[in-house]
Amino acid sequence: MWIGIDDTDSRKGMCTTFILAEVLEELEKFKIASFPRLIRLNPNIPFKTRGNGAVAIEVLNWDEECKEIILNAVEEYAEMDDENTHPGVVFAKNSENYRELYHRALHEVLSVDEVRELISSNKDEYYGFKKMRGIIGAASAIGANLSDYTYELLAYRFPEKWGTKRFVDEESVFKADEMTFPKTWDNVDKENREIVIAPNSPDPVLFGIRGDDPAYIFLAYQTIKSEEIYKEVLFITNQGTDAHIERGMPQREFGSYAFIGEVTCEPYEIPGGHVFMEVNGIKCAAFEPTKQFRNVVRKLKKGDLVEVYGGFKKNTLNLEKIRILKLKEFEEVNPLCEYCNKRMESMGRNKGFRCKKCGRRKMKRESVRIEREVSPGFYEVPPSARRHLAKPLARILQERSL
Ligand code: ATP
Repeated sequence: MWIGIDDTDSRKGMCTTFILAEVLEELEKFKIASFPRLIRLNPNIPFKTRGNGAVAIEVLNWDEECKEIILNAVEEYAEMDDENTHPGVVFAKNSENYRELYHRALHEVLSVDEVRELISSNKDEYYGFKKMRGIIGAASAIGANLSDYTYELLAYRFPEKWGTKRFVDEESVFKADEMTFPKTWDNVDKENREIVIAPNSPDPVLFGIRGDDPAYIFLAYQTIKSEEIYKEVLFITNQGTDAHIERGMPQREFGSYAFIGEVTCEPYEIPGGHVFMEVNGIKCAAFEPTKQFRNVVRKLKKGDLVEVYGGFKKNTLNLEKIRILKLKEFEEVNPLCEYCNKRMESMGRNKGFRCKKCGRRKMKRESVRIEREVSPGFYEVPPSARRHLAKPLARILQERSL
């Protein structure tokens, strides 16, 4: 039997992964099939608390007692009083029946009703609290197709520490990163000299280590010095896989896309430090929190060929990554007056150009080589601005070197 859980937390506390962590030991006697799953879904939906994550697990020797254990834990820990928390638990016999739902939950915005219908038509069970929106994520996490996957080790705090300042020794995190990157990633933001493994919210998570290989993850874990850890759980996840990205031009609000195109409007900046440009006529944004990444966007020019990745909201692609494919090397400018060493002025459409100083004329614009301050290649937002699902360059570049 598969068990999926979602929407138990709020900005004030809790984390759905913790509820699963709390029942793991009790479920052990019913035989757990594999690693618990931490599945991220559509990162653009408006009502997520943080990273739109849900959890799932498969129990081999199913017993009704498991149901009781899970439901009791959800009732005990879920932030039921929060107006945005709508927990859902799903029990399903066959994860294949939720495969398509998972794919849709990554790209679209689904309704509770359609998920209820699907669960009923599969003769599975769900338990929803309040508006029961959590059944969407719970059922989708069960259906996750982990053809590409990574891991995250989550270390939890003792309950009496929740809401207090975390102690994680920064130097030890830099050291752990040095020892294990790129097999682990997003431990630190080197350019901004900060650690990014620990959340700022008052939830039970002390820190999380993400990576491709559990051995390196545990090596990093052993290296990090911190306050005493209550427990740790290794999750298998779809994080860092670009599972949310569809290839092609943006079609749907709240979808995530990657497409190749030409820069059709030069980058410009608005107050607040947000940088915009257009690719194939689609507005693309590098918002202020993407920090140095904006410098790459600022240096692009009309006519450059790029591949852009991002979430599509309000007719704007919020950039997660850019791959510069080809930079424009020449630019058409007004012709030069060799006598005055000045660019001539246009006399109007198809009327040629004239030197303002000496009156000499030329008919055509000329092509000049331009110095570019950016090179072809991949660029990504810093770890602090990264979507959980976005595939980091650490992974992309490792694959390419194989
Ligand atoms: P955390 O990452 O800390 O667990 P969260 O960001 O996952 O928090 P939730 O509290 O789980 O936020 O809220 C997300 C809600 O959105 C859940 O109820 C989930 O079932 C629902 N949901 C997830 N994906 C979709 C989707 N594609 N369409 C509609 N609802 C969705």
